Amino acid sequence: MAADINTPTPESGTSSQTDDGGYDKKCIFCKIVKGEMGTELLHNDETISCFRDIHPGAPHHYLVVPSKHVGNCKSLRKEHVSLVEKMVEMGKEMLQKNNVTDLNDVRFGFHWPPFCSVTHLHLHVLAPVSQMGFMSRLVYRLNSYWFITADQLLQRLNSMS
Ligand SMILES: [Zn+2]
Ligand SMILES: [Zn+2]
Repeated sequence: MAADINTPTPESGTSSQTDDGGYDKKCIFCKIVKGEMGTELLHNDETISCFRDIHPGAPHHYLVVPSKHVGNCKSLRKEHVSLVEKMVEMGKEMLQKNNVTDLNDVRFGFHWPPFCSVTHLHLHVLAPVSQMGFMSRLVYRLNSYWFITADQLLQRLNSMS
């Protein structure tokens, strides 16, 4: 829209915090959640959103994110346990909706900083693991220092005081 060109951007400069209820305008996942990227949202409510990974590592590869900007998994604290649990539930629901019935052949996890390309917290949901190629197995590798499963993250958060 040409009319936007002359619209001054209101930058207060007083705060570097996210505005508009946890929206970070530099964050691609915030834009996706707001529908600004044209990405199909498979789920979108005020807490959680889900969409397909643009570089699928398996026949089913979903990203589950908080709808408001939350930083990477290393920055999470015990109070985030219920959010992470909800994200896992959403991932399972998404698989079931898409006829993935073998929940033993799935991988749920997070990239550990600095190995995340986007800082907005995102859960990778991949299935079936048995059909993942060599590179995907590496990128989403269990017990590596760059990938942590959802269970491992929950254990970590629960052990915090
Ligand atoms: Zn974000
Ligand atoms: Zn990632």
